[in-house]
Amino acid sequence: MIDTAREWLTEARHVCVLTGAGMSAESGIPTFRDALTGLWSRFDPAQLASEDGFRANPALVWDWYAQRRDGVRRAQPNAGHLALAAFAKRHPGRLTVVTQNVDDLHQRAGVADTIRLHGDILEDRWLTPCPKRPACDPGSADPGTPPSCTACGNLLRPGVVWFGEMLPPQALDAAEQAAVQCELMLVVGTSGAVWPAAGLAGAARRAGAFVVIVNPHPSEIDGEAHAVLRGSAATVLPELLRGL
Ligand code: NAD
Repeated sequence: MIDTAREWLTEARHVCVLTGAGMSAESGIPTFRDALTGLWSRFDPAQLASEDGFRANPALVWDWYAQRRDGVRRAQPNAGHLALAAFAKRHPGRLTVVTQNVDDLHQRAGVADTIRLHGDILEDRWLTPCPKRPACDPGSADPGTPPSCTACGNLLRPGVVWFGEMLPPQALDAAEQAAVQCELMLVVGTSGAVWPAAGLAGAARRAGAFVVIVNPHPSEIDGEAHAVLRGSAATVLPELLRGL
């Protein structure tokens, strides 16, 4: 199956890669399910990753993100991130990386123009849009759990997309364009349970692209795939892209 996928890759003028939490698992960043173990296992994801959850207990949610941010800062791109970045460098303009991940490992591996559907965990922003002109600078917030604005009392929150929130429209548009314009979509390390990202594989397939999934386990979108490569991102991607 991998040889067929390599042939499709060789032929494809445009390749779109959609990545999820499994892409970064071998860099030591837990997937969402794994991240809710240990100390955090008694909390429901909606409590930790929603505006209502944050408003109900800002300190708890801020601390949970602080722990995840530490993990992201310590992590390094794995062989899968590096293989994608090397392919992008060998073929300028041919590869578009779309990620659901809130870490910066694709960027640190060398894909600076990665499309980020779910935001950036290392960024801070105001919980309520700042009404002042110019807006108060999140960098000036008073330290606290969470930090707050000295002028307005507004709280800082992480720059990620929470449950129930809209995706950044520009990123979503760019991802949809990449999906319908590619000739091969590679879907790596996503359960396919989170929408609208999960719909991109079907959109690519309907527009005529081959869809190849890389995941050690079944996903909800395996039915959209022309080929499923059962293995991990850091082992399959270097093999799939070697020499191409
Ligand atoms: P998910 O947690 O729902 O699913 C992870 C998928 O990765 C599973 O299908 C699993 O089988 C697969 N997987 C596990 N290890 C793998 C490996 N080594 N190689 C390849 N695949 C592997 O993740 P999701 O589909 O991305 O959706 C969850 C949401 O959680 C996303 O919206 C994302 O923003 C967020 N999230 C992001 C990060 C991150 O930024 N690294 C981490 C956790 C959660």
